[in-house]
Amino acid sequence: MPHIDKILIANRGEIAVRIIRSAREMNIKTVAIYSEADRTAPHVRMADEAVFMGPPPSSQSYLLSDKIIEVAKERGAQAIHPGYGFLSENAGFAAKVAKAGLIFIGPNPDSISVMGDKLKAKEAVKDFGIPLVPGSEGAIDDPKEAARVAKEIGFPVLIKAAAGGGGKGMRIVEREEDVEEQMALATSEAKSAFGDGSVFIEKYISSPRHIEIQVLADTHGNRVHLFERECSIQRRHQKVIEEAPSAILTPEVREAMGKHALKCAEACDYVGAGTVEFIMDEQLNYFFLEMNTRLQVEHPVSEMISGLDLVKEQIKVARGEALSFRQSDLKINGHSLELRVYAEDPASNFLPSTGKLEVYKRPLGPGVRVDDGFEEGMDVPVYYDPMIAKLVTHGKDRAEAIARMLRAIQEYQISGIETTLPFGKFVLEHPAFISGQFDTHFVSKHFKPELLTPELDASTTAAAALFAATIIGETPKKTVQQQQNGPAFSAWKLNRTR
Ligand code: ADP
Repeated sequence: MPHIDKILIANRGEIAVRIIRSAREMNIKTVAIYSEADRTAPHVRMADEAVFMGPPPSSQSYLLSDKIIEVAKERGAQAIHPGYGFLSENAGFAAKVAKAGLIFIGPNPDSISVMGDKLKAKEAVKDFGIPLVPGSEGAIDDPKEAARVAKEIGFPVLIKAAAGGGGKGMRIVEREEDVEEQMALATSEAKSAFGDGSVFIEKYISSPRHIEIQVLADTHGNRVHLFERECSIQRRHQKVIEEAPSAILTPEVREAMGKHALKCAEACDYVGAGTVEFIMDEQLNYFFLEMNTRLQVEHPVSEMISGLDLVKEQIKVARGEALSFRQSDLKINGHSLELRVYAEDPASNFLPSTGKLEVYKRPLGPGVRVDDGFEEGMDVPVYYDPMIAKLVTHGKDRAEAIARMLRAIQEYQISGIETTLPFGKFVLEHPAFISGQFDTHFVSKHFKPELLTPELDASTTAAAALFAATIIGETPKKTVQQQQNGPAFSAWKLNRTR
């Protein structure tokens, strides 16, 4: 079996820190890489070794595949963990790593390339009895053909980029006369974002939920799933709050989805940790969307309910070990939620909010986990994903996980920049979220920035008093310290007055 006692982490931020922690618990040394913008980042300090890569833009640092492989060899690492984003779903990189005699902690290059193309992925899974969203058989480039297919499946339809990711290159089309124009827009968006303009058509599910299944496979043919994650709270097709399990799945649907997800893994010879994404309609019919061939941002909620450490499992699989448990050994324990804390201002259409983390104090206490890559006094770099942290809670049931999340949001102290914490509080207190009756349109249906302002929220009387006092120039005694922390009205300042 391959020996691994040192891993190079080809990533940064919270996920690099996350990987260092599991490696350390396994007595494995780590090599971090970093750009100019990340000189003082925790992942650099926490790793056993750190190697400078270059200037801040990722094309000159975190994406330098040849240099990364060279560094791994120089430093005596046997394996490379790509995290998520950057090189994690780059089949060419995975192949190069193997060619250099190193282990890529992830699936084989073929699985990555098949699942990296939504059309190839559909083609690969269709013989395995996996339900697919009705749509075109392959790529379409003739608008007339597109209009014909759209009419056949029925409007509204979704035009999607085959190489799509991050919600880009997707257009909803309501009427036949709009097909041509929307197709041209989707194609050019796909070309500029992914260098591949191929698009296809799918039935648009009008009230969908995004439900995905975490899978884990070893090199001996064993495959298990770690149940589902509900990721329907999205903004611009991007997940913001995730939970496990979903509030609406029945045990029967869960089991059927799990089996189908394992079939997807089988269809592409999957090895390691991966995620099969499904879209679900109001009748709990579900359809395969795509498979993500890496560790997902939202993996902690699955860890919290399953008791497994997915990074450790990835490393063990990479070492050639067989999974040490079977499907029947896995049980759902309680409920877990994750809120992605972004450096964005929810009161101004989620505009990026960059600057210094003047105050940065994490919440603590029972059932709270914070995965982050920042510290007080650090700047949030403009070059990378604006996620500061993942705030994760676990409780014996959904109600306790929600209560803990609200308590943790209240304890979280961030000033100097605006964050999505107040938005998270809004969602968690919303009756639609609490009832479990929501879909991917939750944000556009229910959220308005005005709803975040304290004077509109009847329950935040003390916060409103503080707000009023600030305006009229009085400083209530209790808030002197908060006033010193700057004029920004961050969530914790509001919450602390309650
Ligand atoms: P990406 O790879 O860009 O993330 P996905 O195929 O995973 O694209 O879809 C992202 C999101 O877009 C889904 O979570 C869902 O909200 C929405 N979506 C995708 N396909 C459909 C569909 N056929 N009908 C309705 N919504 C969809």
